[in-house]
Amino acid sequence: MKFRSTRGLEKDIASAQAIINGISKDGGLYVPDGFPKVYDELKKDTKIQYEDLAFRIINEYFTDIDDEELMGAINSAYNDRFSVEVKNNFLELYHGPTCAFKDAALLFLPQVMKRAKKICDVKEDITILTATSGDTGKAALEGFKNVEGFKVVVYYPKNGVSTIQERQMSSQEGNNVKIVGIKGNFDDAQTGVKEIFGDDDFRAGLAQKGYILSSANSINIGRLVPQIVYYFYGYFNLVNQGIIKKDDAINVVVPTGNFGNILAGYYAKQMGLPIDKFICASNENKVLTDFFETGVYDKKRELVLTESPSMDILVSSNLERLLFEASGRDTTVVSELMKDLNTKGAYEVNEKIKSFIKEFYGNFADAEEVYVAIKEVYEKENYLMDTHTAVAYVVKKKYVEETKDDKPALILSTASPFKFPRSICNALNIDVEGIDDFKVLEKLSTNTNNTIPSSLSTLETAKVLHDEVWDKSEMKDALLSYLK
Ligand SMILES: *Cc1c(COP(=O)(O)O)cnc(C)c1O
Repeated sequence: MKFRSTRGLEKDIASAQAIINGISKDGGLYVPDGFPKVYDELKKDTKIQYEDLAFRIINEYFTDIDDEELMGAINSAYNDRFSVEVKNNFLELYHGPTCAFKDAALLFLPQVMKRAKKICDVKEDITILTATSGDTGKAALEGFKNVEGFKVVVYYPKNGVSTIQERQMSSQEGNNVKIVGIKGNFDDAQTGVKEIFGDDDFRAGLAQKGYILSSANSINIGRLVPQIVYYFYGYFNLVNQGIIKKDDAINVVVPTGNFGNILAGYYAKQMGLPIDKFICASNENKVLTDFFETGVYDKKRELVLTESPSMDILVSSNLERLLFEASGRDTTVVSELMKDLNTKGAYEVNEKIKSFIKEFYGNFADAEEVYVAIKEVYEKENYLMDTHTAVAYVVKKKYVEETKDDKPALILSTASPFKFPRSICNALNIDVEGIDDFKVLEKLSTNTNNTIPSSLSTLETAKVLHDEVWDKSEMKDALLSYLK
């Protein structure tokens, strides 16, 4: 399997190199040359273990990493650290060290990168740069901490993440980590990171000092591929529970931000998994809802800070990979659209792409709808959803009402409700006025009789080790101050 850029400059890139580079030289994203149709083979054993399933799927893409090494990477990533559960048609992806679904990808990425580094004979330290809207940062820090040959620098919007998310990062231990608060929003942080990657002189300067930069954002193909796995796992679980029969089509509902998670589902479908509709759920930052409705992607709007902060995004980077497929792999079309996005802040896709993307349904949920849903599902089903998952739940309901399509649907549950306890308490009318987030955590636990995940219950007393704040124009300076 080889990889190429969505914008056409690079072709025939081996996976190890694509993983090390993170983003292509032309600013495009790496995509695989094809999608092996392995569903028919895999469905023979629907009770397969997560790690074994991961091996079967990832091995189709990262073919230049030998089997033993790949299995080693998967085991180090997931054994005793991560699991996936299906409850009431919710695919729970948050049973990992940071209590959010990004663990699925970010526990694996460092392990595969370490091996890719060996294959590409990279001797220098690799510095991972990450912009985060809350969850990615912590997951990257956990994945890369103390991994030899790597450093991690995380930029987050100082006022754009929850208290708990911030403490998760500021208390991060490890001998190779740096956390930088930015005066700005998530898009500022992401744009800043993209600028650093695009600045050849700056990078050359760093290279002279022995530093190579790479990315852990969901644009890295090393993050995207492991996310395909849980779509198969979730589907097989529905089969095992007798909710569907093998080969029945299902819909998937995905609370979406950067479009990585839902795109992995699309890749799973290309590999043969019987998924019919992709229901793309947004919060009030409904750029994608508008896009799927009109074919116009328009980021020229104010970013709204919502209670599902990991979806507070105006530029969904991974959408570029869908446009690549939707245009018939036309790199000229993709390059032009991305140029329009950069220069005009918007683009409109052609008719061919418009008809292709009908496989996707977009809608959004506002704060009130999210609250009502959390309360309703808790009271009726005794099931606690986090705010991101609730966005998906609301949008699924809207989809069914609009289309009457009541196929079994898997709702991707992306975070533990304990990661956003104040919002959940507000939704459930549990009074948390004037008490701090950590006390709120306890109150949510006692009132709902649910246990706080251990990595969150110890946060209150965790020591703050990082408290730097920089202006959004100083992201390079922050990096240099750490590397020198
Ligand atoms: C990152 C994140 C999302 C959005 O996922 P994308 O792959 O960026 O679309 C949704 N929910 C939670 C909890 C997240 O952390």
